[in-house]
Amino acid sequence: MMVGIFGAGQLARMLALAGKPLGLEFLFLDPASEVCAAEVGTHLQGDYTDHALLMQMAEQCDVITYEFENVPAETIDFISAHATVYPAPKALAIGQDRLIEKNFLRDLDIPTAPFAAVDSLNDLENAAAKIGYPALLKTRRLGYDGKGQVLLRSSSDLIVGWDELMGAPCILEGFVPFRREVSIIAVRSVSGEIAYYPLSENHHKGGILRVAKCSENDPLQQQAESIATRLLSGLDYVGVIAVELFDVDSHLVANEFAPRVHNSGHWTIEGAETSQFENHLRAILGMPLGRTSPLGYSAMQNFIGGLPSLKELLSLSDVHPHFYNKAPRKGRKVAHATVRAHSPEQLSGRMAYLAKLAGLTDDS
Ligand code: AMP
Repeated sequence: MMVGIFGAGQLARMLALAGKPLGLEFLFLDPASEVCAAEVGTHLQGDYTDHALLMQMAEQCDVITYEFENVPAETIDFISAHATVYPAPKALAIGQDRLIEKNFLRDLDIPTAPFAAVDSLNDLENAAAKIGYPALLKTRRLGYDGKGQVLLRSSSDLIVGWDELMGAPCILEGFVPFRREVSIIAVRSVSGEIAYYPLSENHHKGGILRVAKCSENDPLQQQAESIATRLLSGLDYVGVIAVELFDVDSHLVANEFAPRVHNSGHWTIEGAETSQFENHLRAILGMPLGRTSPLGYSAMQNFIGGLPSLKELLSLSDVHPHFYNKAPRKGRKVAHATVRAHSPEQLSGRMAYLAKLAGLTDDS
């Protein structure tokens, strides 16, 4: 069976690495000339709106999916008429726009930060008067890893903040005083079967994920599963979804969802019985889902801006490196490593070692 993927970065690469042992083949569409998934499938180089290339994908693939949520709406409209695409276009359309996404979450009774649409400086002043400070001004579209957002501490930040985002349509969000950031990775198959992974506890710096740790038996697991379930059915969803959440005094507040496999679920490759990548493929191909139970204690460290020494990495017990074959560049995720352990204490020691290695090359 042939799986088509929009995007040929590390998520596409890890999907293909999970699918190869199942006998699956992969076709990637990506405008870049050098892509890290090319080693594990066929790379069609071209624009996402090139109808000839889209027709080629439709003809060759049994199912088409994507590794990023900003696939142009035009591409999705065209390809959906000719091929099976999962997750369905509705999830993309909602996930691409923070305002539509927040309204959708609210309609599903999923708690969010207070928010308001901002299309002008006047809107911003009114929204800030209602929401208060601190608050985050975020562009509605194309923001990721903390890009396209400005923290407003007081009314004196309003004009500078608005100018910084250059008049793009925005959303103002109240700053959530969270205790922890967590995410839930859930998966729903074509047949409606659903599985959830244990929560990931996530640590960001500068808006970029650095560490994700499997939180087995987390007291907020049920709350997170209930949020994920509402989203999966509200979106009539097929595939893996990641929901990013804030833990505020043991109540979960949703930040956003990603309609795809997610960095905070990379630990599932070695830390769970079936990885998020394999389960995404199983789900979109209508296969039975694999078990999501954790295998011991595990956590993942991202390497950003530079690769660690392989020799030093491999001197750690039960470590599992994933180098993406991407040229190092400031702020770029170039690798991650998952480490497993027999106890929380052992895991902390091993993660401290990984954090030190990551710190040697992290320039962001
Ligand atoms: P985002 O681009 O929305 O995923 O935000 C990136 C990071 O900014 C999050 O992982 C949080 O650490 C932080 N953040 C985003 N929105 C809020 C908020 N409303 N309150 C507090 N922190 C936030």
